[in-house]
Amino acid sequence: MTTDTRSVNQTITSDPSSSCDVELAAGPWEFDLVAGYGPGASEDDVIPDPVVRPGQLPAAYQRMDEEDLHARIRAAKESLGDRLVILGHFYQRDEVVRHADFVGDSFQLANAALTRPDAEHIVFCGVHFMAETADILARPDQHVILPNLAAGCSMADMADEDSVESAWEQLTEIYGTEPDASGRQPVIPVTYMNSSAALKAFCGRHGGIVCTSSNASTVLEWAFERGQRVLFFPDQHLGRNTAKAMGIELDAMPMVNPRKPLLGQTEQVLRDAEVLLWPGFCSVHKRFTVAQIEAARAQHPGVKVVVHPECPMPVVDAADAAGSTDFIRKFVAASEPGDVIAIGTEINMVNRLAAEYPDRTIFCLDPVVCPCSTMYRIHPGYLAWVLDGIVEGEVRNEIVVDAEVATHAKVALERMLAALPK
Ligand code: SF4
Repeated sequence: MTTDTRSVNQTITSDPSSSCDVELAAGPWEFDLVAGYGPGASEDDVIPDPVVRPGQLPAAYQRMDEEDLHARIRAAKESLGDRLVILGHFYQRDEVVRHADFVGDSFQLANAALTRPDAEHIVFCGVHFMAETADILARPDQHVILPNLAAGCSMADMADEDSVESAWEQLTEIYGTEPDASGRQPVIPVTYMNSSAALKAFCGRHGGIVCTSSNASTVLEWAFERGQRVLFFPDQHLGRNTAKAMGIELDAMPMVNPRKPLLGQTEQVLRDAEVLLWPGFCSVHKRFTVAQIEAARAQHPGVKVVVHPECPMPVVDAADAAGSTDFIRKFVAASEPGDVIAIGTEINMVNRLAAEYPDRTIFCLDPVVCPCSTMYRIHPGYLAWVLDGIVEGEVRNEIVVDAEVATHAKVALERMLAALPK
Protein backbone atom coordinates (compact mmCIF):
# COMPACT_ATOMS: atom_id res chain seq x y z
CA MET A 1 0.00 0.00 0.00
CA THR A 2 1.25 3.46 -0.84
CA THR A 3 1.91 5.53 2.24
CA ASP A 4 0.61 9.07 2.06
CA THR A 5 0.73 11.36 5.03
CA ARG A 6 -2.48 12.96 3.80
CA SER A 7 -4.38 9.67 3.65
CA VAL A 8 -5.98 9.83 7.08
CA ASN A 9 -7.44 12.68 9.05
CA GLN A 10 -6.38 16.00 7.69
CA THR A 11 -7.60 18.05 10.62
CA ILE A 12 -7.75 21.60 11.85
CA THR A 13 -5.14 22.31 14.51
CA SER A 14 -4.47 25.43 16.57
CA ASP A 15 -1.94 26.44 13.89
CA PRO A 16 -3.79 29.11 11.85
CA SER A 17 -2.11 27.82 8.66
CA SER A 18 -3.71 24.38 9.17
CA SER A 19 -6.99 25.42 7.60
CA CYS A 20 -8.43 27.70 4.94
CA ASP A 21 -9.95 30.06 7.54
CA VAL A 22 -7.65 31.28 10.32
CA GLU A 23 -10.65 31.70 12.61
CA LEU A 24 -11.32 27.95 12.54
CA ALA A 25 -8.02 27.34 14.32
CA ALA A 26 -9.09 29.54 17.23
CA GLY A 27 -11.36 26.78 18.60
CA PRO A 28 -15.09 26.13 18.40
CA TRP A 29 -16.34 28.72 20.86
CA GLU A 30 -14.23 31.55 19.51
CA PHE A 31 -15.35 30.58 16.00
CA ASP A 32 -18.94 30.56 17.21
CA LEU A 33 -18.57 34.27 18.04
CA VAL A 34 -17.61 35.08 14.45
CA ALA A 35 -20.60 36.73 12.77
CA GLY A 36 -22.37 34.15 10.66
CA TYR A 37 -25.77 33.26 9.44
CA GLY A 38 -28.06 33.49 12.45
CA PRO A 39 -31.77 33.27 13.09
CA GLY A 40 -33.95 35.23 10.73
CA ALA A 41 -31.39 35.43 7.94
CA SER A 42 -33.36 33.24 5.55
CA GLU A 43 -36.39 34.45 3.61
CA ASP A 44 -39.59 33.87 5.57
CA ASP A 45 -37.70 32.42 8.55
CA VAL A 46 -39.92 31.93 11.52
CA ILE A 47 -37.54 32.94 14.31
CA PRO A 48 -37.53 30.34 17.09
CA ASP A 49 -38.69 31.43 20.51
CA PRO A 50 -36.70 31.32 22.75
CA VAL A 51 -33.79 32.00 20.44
CA VAL A 52 -30.14 31.42 21.27
CA ARG A 53 -28.04 33.55 18.98
CA PRO A 54 -24.65 32.33 17.77
CA GLY A 55 -22.12 32.57 20.58
CA GLN A 56 -24.81 32.44 23.27
CA LEU A 57 -24.75 28.72 24.08
CA PRO A 58 -24.98 28.44 27.89
CA ALA A 59 -21.48 28.49 29.37
CA ALA A 60 -21.92 25.11 31.08
CA TYR A 61 -22.08 23.42 27.66
CA GLN A 62 -19.09 25.37 26.37
CA ARG A 63 -17.00 24.40 29.40
CA MET A 64 -18.06 20.76 29.56
CA ASP A 65 -15.40 18.14 28.88
CA GLU A 66 -15.96 16.47 25.49
CA GLU A 67 -16.42 12.99 26.99
CA ASP A 68 -19.04 14.38 29.39
CA LEU A 69 -20.85 15.93 26.43
CA HIS A 70 -20.88 12.58 24.64
CA ALA A 71 -22.17 10.85 27.78
CA ARG A 72 -24.91 13.47 28.08
CA ILE A 73 -25.94 13.01 24.44
CA ARG A 74 -26.03 9.23 24.84
CA ALA A 75 -28.13 9.53 28.02
CA ALA A 76 -30.63 11.87 26.31
CA LYS A 77 -30.89 9.55 23.30
CA GLU A 78 -31.53 6.59 25.55
CA SER A 79 -34.21 8.38 27.52
CA LEU A 80 -35.98 9.68 24.39
CA GLY A 81 -35.82 6.37 22.47
CA ASP A 82 -38.04 6.31 19.37
CA ARG A 83 -39.29 9.83 20.08
CA LEU A 84 -36.03 11.15 18.63
CA VAL A 85 -34.11 10.76 15.39
CA ILE A 86 -30.72 12.40 14.81
CA LEU A 87 -29.62 13.02 11.22
CA GLY A 88 -25.97 13.68 10.31
CA HIS A 89 -24.83 15.04 6.96
CA PHE A 90 -21.81 13.48 5.20
CA TYR A 91 -19.95 16.78 5.77
CA GLN A 92 -20.64 16.92 9.50
CA ARG A 93 -17.75 16.51 11.95
CA ASP A 94 -17.15 13.01 13.41
CA GLU A 95 -17.80 14.05 17.03
CA VAL A 96 -21.40 14.77 15.98
CA VAL A 97 -21.87 12.08 13.30
CA ARG A 98 -21.08 9.34 15.83
CA HIS A 99 -24.46 10.11 17.48
CA ALA A 100 -26.47 10.14 14.24
CA ASP A 101 -29.08 7.48 13.49
CA PHE A 102 -28.65 8.18 9.77
CA VAL A 103 -25.74 9.64 7.80
CA GLY A 104 -26.29 10.80 4.24
CA ASP A 105 -26.83 13.72 1.90
CA SER A 106 -29.57 16.27 2.54
CA PHE A 107 -32.30 14.53 0.60
CA GLN A 108 -31.44 11.03 1.82
CA LEU A 109 -31.65 12.39 5.36
CA ALA A 110 -35.00 14.12 4.88
CA ASN A 111 -36.34 10.82 3.51
CA ALA A 112 -34.68 8.83 6.30
CA ALA A 113 -36.65 10.87 8.82
CA LEU A 114 -39.86 9.68 7.13
CA THR A 115 -38.94 6.10 8.05
CA ARG A 116 -39.21 7.05 11.74
CA PRO A 117 -42.89 7.98 12.08
CA ASP A 118 -42.71 7.74 15.86
CA ALA A 119 -40.03 10.43 16.07
CA GLU A 120 -41.58 13.58 17.49
CA HIS A 121 -38.20 15.32 17.24
CA ILE A 122 -35.93 15.35 14.20
CA VAL A 123 -32.54 16.82 15.09
CA PHE A 124 -30.81 17.78 11.84
CA CYS A 125 -27.02 18.02 12.16
CA GLY A 126 -26.58 19.74 8.83
CA VAL A 127 -27.37 23.28 7.68
CA HIS A 128 -30.44 25.49 7.60
CA PHE A 129 -31.86 24.61 4.16
CA MET A 130 -31.65 20.90 5.03
CA ALA A 131 -33.67 21.42 8.21
CA GLU A 132 -36.19 23.44 6.21
CA THR A 133 -36.56 20.60 3.69
CA ALA A 134 -37.02 18.10 6.50
CA ASP A 135 -39.72 20.34 8.00
CA ILE A 136 -41.51 20.60 4.62
CA LEU A 137 -41.56 16.79 4.30
CA ALA A 138 -42.26 16.04 7.97
CA ARG A 139 -45.67 15.64 9.57
CA PRO A 140 -47.07 18.80 11.18
CA ASP A 141 -46.71 17.31 14.66
CA GLN A 142 -42.98 16.60 14.22
CA HIS A 143 -40.44 19.19 15.39
CA VAL A 144 -37.33 19.76 13.27
CA ILE A 145 -34.38 21.12 15.23
CA LEU A 146 -31.14 22.69 13.96
CA PRO A 147 -28.70 22.55 16.92
CA ASN A 148 -26.90 25.79 16.00
CA LEU A 149 -28.90 28.39 14.10
CA ALA A 150 -25.69 29.81 12.64
CA ALA A 151 -25.29 26.67 10.55
CA GLY A 152 -26.35 28.12 7.20
CA CYS A 153 -25.09 27.53 3.69
CA SER A 154 -23.20 30.32 1.96
CA MET A 155 -24.25 29.00 -1.45
CA ALA A 156 -27.94 28.93 -0.53
CA ASP A 157 -27.65 32.54 0.65
CA MET A 158 -26.34 33.61 -2.77
CA ALA A 159 -29.84 33.44 -4.23
CA ASP A 160 -32.54 35.29 -2.31
CA GLU A 161 -36.18 35.48 -3.26
CA ASP A 162 -36.14 39.19 -4.19
CA SER A 163 -33.23 38.76 -6.63
CA VAL A 164 -34.79 35.71 -8.24
CA GLU A 165 -38.17 37.48 -8.55
CA SER A 166 -36.46 40.48 -10.14
CA ALA A 167 -34.57 38.27 -12.63
CA TRP A 168 -37.81 36.45 -13.41
CA GLU A 169 -39.59 39.74 -14.16
CA GLN A 170 -36.85 40.78 -16.57
CA LEU A 171 -36.96 37.41 -18.32
CA THR A 172 -40.74 37.54 -18.57
CA GLU A 173 -40.52 40.97 -20.23
CA ILE A 174 -38.24 39.50 -22.90
CA TYR A 175 -39.78 36.08 -23.42
CA GLY A 176 -43.41 36.81 -22.60
CA THR A 177 -45.53 34.15 -20.93
CA GLU A 178 -46.96 32.26 -23.90
CA PRO A 179 -45.82 28.71 -24.66
CA ASP A 180 -44.35 27.86 -28.09
CA ALA A 181 -46.08 25.73 -30.75
CA SER A 182 -45.07 22.53 -28.92
CA GLY A 183 -46.56 23.80 -25.66
CA ARG A 184 -43.22 24.51 -23.97
CA GLN A 185 -43.10 27.47 -21.58
CA PRO A 186 -40.53 30.23 -22.27
CA VAL A 187 -38.47 29.34 -19.18
CA ILE A 188 -38.63 26.84 -16.31
CA PRO A 189 -37.02 27.64 -12.92
CA VAL A 190 -34.87 24.88 -11.42
CA THR A 191 -33.43 25.24 -7.94
CA TYR A 192 -30.72 23.11 -6.41
CA MET A 193 -31.70 21.51 -3.10
CA ASN A 194 -29.16 23.90 -1.53
CA SER A 195 -31.56 26.84 -1.50
CA SER A 196 -34.04 28.41 0.87
CA ALA A 197 -37.59 27.07 1.21
CA ALA A 198 -38.75 30.36 -0.32
CA LEU A 199 -36.95 29.54 -3.59
CA LYS A 200 -38.27 26.01 -3.66
CA ALA A 201 -41.72 27.58 -3.27
CA PHE A 202 -40.92 30.00 -6.12
CA CYS A 203 -40.24 26.98 -8.35
CA GLY A 204 -43.43 25.31 -7.15
CA ARG A 205 -45.48 28.40 -8.10
CA HIS A 206 -43.84 28.86 -11.53
CA GLY A 207 -43.98 25.32 -12.95
CA GLY A 208 -40.44 24.59 -11.76
CA ILE A 209 -38.69 21.87 -9.86
CA VAL A 210 -35.92 21.07 -7.34
CA CYS A 211 -32.82 19.01 -8.15
CA THR A 212 -30.04 17.36 -6.18
CA SER A 213 -26.51 16.70 -7.37
CA SER A 214 -27.59 13.06 -7.93
CA ASN A 215 -30.48 13.77 -10.27
CA ALA A 216 -29.62 17.12 -11.91
CA SER A 217 -29.53 15.75 -15.49
CA THR A 218 -32.86 13.91 -15.04
CA VAL A 219 -34.38 17.12 -13.70
CA LEU A 220 -32.98 19.21 -16.59
CA GLU A 221 -34.47 16.71 -19.07
CA TRP A 222 -37.81 17.07 -17.24
CA ALA A 223 -37.53 20.85 -17.51
CA PHE A 224 -36.66 20.84 -21.24
CA GLU A 225 -39.74 18.73 -21.96
CA ARG A 226 -41.80 21.56 -20.48
CA GLY A 227 -39.73 24.64 -21.29
CA GLN A 228 -37.59 26.20 -23.97
CA ARG A 229 -34.98 27.28 -21.41
CA VAL A 230 -34.04 26.78 -17.77
CA LEU A 231 -33.20 29.35 -15.11
CA PHE A 232 -30.87 27.37 -12.80
CA PHE A 233 -29.97 28.60 -9.29
CA PRO A 234 -28.06 29.02 -7.06
CA ASP A 235 -25.02 26.89 -8.08
CA GLN A 236 -23.52 27.92 -11.41
CA HIS A 237 -21.07 24.99 -11.36
CA LEU A 238 -23.63 22.22 -10.92
CA GLY A 239 -25.75 23.87 -13.63
CA ARG A 240 -22.86 24.26 -16.07
CA ASN A 241 -21.35 20.82 -15.46
CA THR A 242 -24.71 19.10 -15.84
CA ALA A 243 -25.77 21.02 -18.95
CA LYS A 244 -22.37 20.51 -20.58
CA ALA A 245 -22.57 16.75 -19.97
CA MET A 246 -25.96 16.85 -21.73
CA GLY A 247 -24.32 18.39 -24.83
CA ILE A 248 -25.36 22.01 -24.31
CA GLU A 249 -22.82 24.50 -25.67
CA LEU A 250 -21.18 26.91 -23.22
CA ASP A 251 -22.37 29.85 -25.36
CA ALA A 252 -25.94 28.79 -24.61
CA MET A 253 -25.36 29.02 -20.83
CA PRO A 254 -24.93 32.71 -19.99
CA MET A 255 -24.58 33.77 -16.39
CA VAL A 256 -27.19 36.25 -15.21
CA ASN A 257 -26.58 39.21 -12.93
CA PRO A 258 -29.90 40.10 -11.27
CA ARG A 259 -28.63 43.58 -10.32
CA LYS A 260 -28.00 44.68 -13.90
CA PRO A 261 -30.36 45.69 -16.69
CA LEU A 262 -30.99 42.77 -19.05
CA LEU A 263 -29.32 40.68 -16.33
CA GLY A 264 -25.93 41.87 -17.60
CA GLN A 265 -26.41 40.24 -21.03
CA THR A 266 -27.71 41.33 -24.42
CA GLU A 267 -31.27 40.55 -25.36
CA GLN A 268 -30.02 38.25 -28.14
CA VAL A 269 -27.86 36.26 -25.70
CA LEU A 270 -30.87 35.82 -23.41
CA ARG A 271 -33.07 34.75 -26.34
CA ASP A 272 -30.48 32.20 -27.51
CA ALA A 273 -29.88 30.83 -24.00
CA GLU A 274 -30.76 27.26 -23.09
CA VAL A 275 -29.62 27.39 -19.47
CA LEU A 276 -29.42 30.70 -17.58
CA LEU A 277 -26.91 30.25 -14.76
CA TRP A 278 -27.08 32.04 -11.41
CA PRO A 279 -23.70 33.28 -10.11
CA GLY A 280 -23.71 31.17 -6.90
CA PHE A 281 -21.02 28.73 -5.80
CA CYS A 282 -19.91 26.61 -2.86
CA SER A 283 -16.99 28.12 -0.99
CA VAL A 284 -15.64 24.64 -0.21
CA HIS A 285 -15.84 23.16 -3.72
CA LYS A 286 -14.65 26.24 -5.60
CA ARG A 287 -11.24 25.74 -3.94
CA PHE A 288 -10.45 22.66 -6.02
CA THR A 289 -8.19 23.29 -9.00
CA VAL A 290 -6.75 21.53 -12.04
CA ALA A 291 -3.26 22.19 -10.60
CA GLN A 292 -4.19 20.07 -7.55
CA ILE A 293 -5.25 17.23 -9.86
CA GLU A 294 -2.00 17.52 -11.84
CA ALA A 295 -0.01 17.45 -8.58
CA ALA A 296 -1.89 14.34 -7.40
CA ARG A 297 -1.25 12.60 -10.74
CA ALA A 298 2.45 13.53 -10.64
CA GLN A 299 2.84 12.28 -7.07
CA HIS A 300 0.70 9.15 -7.47
CA PRO A 301 0.81 7.75 -11.01
CA GLY A 302 -2.41 5.78 -11.49
CA VAL A 303 -4.35 7.83 -8.92
CA LYS A 304 -8.10 7.94 -9.49
CA VAL A 305 -9.57 11.41 -9.12
CA VAL A 306 -13.23 11.83 -8.21
CA VAL A 307 -14.83 15.22 -7.56
CA HIS A 308 -18.19 16.73 -6.71
CA PRO A 309 -20.08 18.57 -9.50
CA GLU A 310 -20.12 21.75 -7.38
CA CYS A 311 -16.44 22.04 -8.44
CA PRO A 312 -15.61 24.38 -11.34
CA MET A 313 -15.97 22.88 -14.84
CA PRO A 314 -12.21 22.59 -15.64
CA VAL A 315 -11.80 20.53 -12.44
CA VAL A 316 -14.69 18.23 -13.33
CA ASP A 317 -13.27 17.87 -16.86
CA ALA A 318 -9.81 16.97 -15.53
CA ALA A 319 -11.13 14.39 -13.02
CA ASP A 320 -11.73 10.72 -13.79
CA ALA A 321 -15.26 10.92 -12.43
CA ALA A 322 -17.66 13.43 -10.92
CA GLY A 323 -20.81 12.94 -8.93
CA SER A 324 -22.77 13.55 -5.77
CA THR A 325 -21.57 12.62 -2.28
CA ASP A 326 -23.37 9.30 -2.65
CA PHE A 327 -21.66 8.74 -6.01
CA ILE A 328 -18.26 9.46 -4.42
CA ARG A 329 -19.01 7.05 -1.58
CA LYS A 330 -19.94 4.30 -4.08
CA PHE A 331 -16.88 5.13 -6.24
CA VAL A 332 -14.63 4.48 -3.24
CA ALA A 333 -16.57 1.36 -2.23
CA ALA A 334 -16.07 -0.06 -5.74
CA SER A 335 -12.30 0.53 -5.68
CA GLU A 336 -9.73 -2.19 -4.93
CA PRO A 337 -7.38 -2.54 -1.95
CA GLY A 338 -4.16 -0.69 -2.78
CA ASP A 339 -5.90 1.89 -4.99
CA VAL A 340 -5.01 5.54 -4.59
CA ILE A 341 -7.98 7.91 -4.70
CA ALA A 342 -7.88 11.71 -4.62
CA ILE A 343 -11.23 13.27 -3.74
CA GLY A 344 -12.53 16.75 -4.41
CA THR A 345 -15.15 17.26 -1.73
CA GLU A 346 -15.52 18.34 1.89
CA ILE A 347 -12.78 17.15 4.25
CA ASN A 348 -14.92 15.41 6.90
CA MET A 349 -16.36 13.09 4.29
CA VAL A 350 -12.90 12.40 2.81
CA ASN A 351 -11.44 11.64 6.26
CA ARG A 352 -14.32 9.30 7.03
CA LEU A 353 -13.82 7.39 3.77
CA ALA A 354 -10.07 7.18 4.45
CA ALA A 355 -10.76 5.71 7.89
CA GLU A 356 -13.37 3.31 6.49
CA TYR A 357 -11.01 1.96 3.80
CA PRO A 358 -7.57 1.81 5.49
CA ASP A 359 -6.26 -0.55 2.77
CA ARG A 360 -6.51 2.25 0.17
CA THR A 361 -4.75 5.60 0.03
CA ILE A 362 -7.48 8.20 0.12
CA PHE A 363 -6.82 11.91 0.39
CA CYS A 364 -8.40 15.26 -0.28
CA LEU A 365 -7.17 17.09 -3.40
CA ASP A 366 -6.96 20.31 -1.43
CA PRO A 367 -3.83 20.18 0.78
CA VAL A 368 -5.33 22.87 3.04
CA VAL A 369 -8.04 21.64 5.40
CA CYS A 370 -11.26 23.39 4.44
CA PRO A 371 -14.38 22.07 6.14
CA CYS A 372 -17.85 23.40 5.46
CA SER A 373 -17.39 26.14 8.06
CA THR A 374 -21.10 26.63 8.65
CA MET A 375 -21.78 22.93 9.23
CA TYR A 376 -18.73 22.97 11.51
CA ARG A 377 -20.70 25.27 13.81
CA ILE A 378 -22.66 22.27 15.08
CA HIS A 379 -20.52 21.21 18.01
CA PRO A 380 -21.44 18.34 20.38
CA GLY A 381 -22.14 21.10 22.96
CA TYR A 382 -25.03 22.38 20.82
CA LEU A 383 -26.29 18.85 20.23
CA ALA A 384 -26.25 18.11 23.98
CA TRP A 385 -28.05 21.42 24.69
CA VAL A 386 -30.94 20.78 22.27
CA LEU A 387 -31.31 17.16 23.43
CA ASP A 388 -31.38 18.21 27.09
CA GLY A 389 -34.07 20.70 26.10
CA ILE A 390 -36.24 17.93 24.63
CA VAL A 391 -35.77 15.80 27.75
CA GLU A 392 -36.86 18.81 29.84
CA GLY A 393 -39.89 19.41 27.59
CA GLU A 394 -38.50 22.46 25.75
CA VAL A 395 -38.05 22.46 21.97
CA ARG A 396 -34.99 24.61 21.22
CA ASN A 397 -33.96 25.96 17.81
CA GLU A 398 -37.00 24.63 16.01
CA ILE A 399 -37.08 25.30 12.25
CA VAL A 400 -40.62 26.03 11.09
CA VAL A 401 -41.30 26.81 7.45
CA ASP A 402 -44.26 29.12 6.84
CA ALA A 403 -47.27 26.95 5.84
CA GLU A 404 -47.89 28.63 2.48
CA VAL A 405 -44.20 28.52 1.54
CA ALA A 406 -44.10 24.85 2.55
CA THR A 407 -47.13 24.01 0.38
CA HIS A 408 -45.56 25.46 -2.79
CA ALA A 409 -42.08 24.12 -1.98
CA LYS A 410 -43.54 20.65 -1.57
CA VAL A 411 -44.99 20.85 -5.09
CA ALA A 412 -41.49 21.45 -6.52
CA LEU A 413 -40.03 18.65 -4.37
CA GLU A 414 -42.76 16.23 -5.42
CA ARG A 415 -42.13 17.03 -9.10
CA MET A 416 -38.51 16.05 -8.49
CA LEU A 417 -39.56 12.77 -6.91
CA ALA A 418 -41.82 12.00 -9.86
CA ALA A 419 -39.14 12.85 -12.48
CA LEU A 420 -37.62 9.58 -13.64
CA PRO A 421 -34.37 9.10 -15.57
CA LYS A 422 -34.83 8.50 -19.33
S1 SF4 B 1 -20.38 22.40 1.56
FE1 SF4 B 1 -20.90 24.26 0.38
S2 SF4 B 1 -22.92 23.88 -0.53
FE2 SF4 B 1 -22.59 22.32 1.11
S3 SF4 B 1 -23.56 23.20 2.92
FE3 SF4 B 1 -21.39 23.81 2.99
S4 SF4 B 1 -21.32 25.84 1.95
FE4 SF4 B 1 -23.29 24.88 1.44
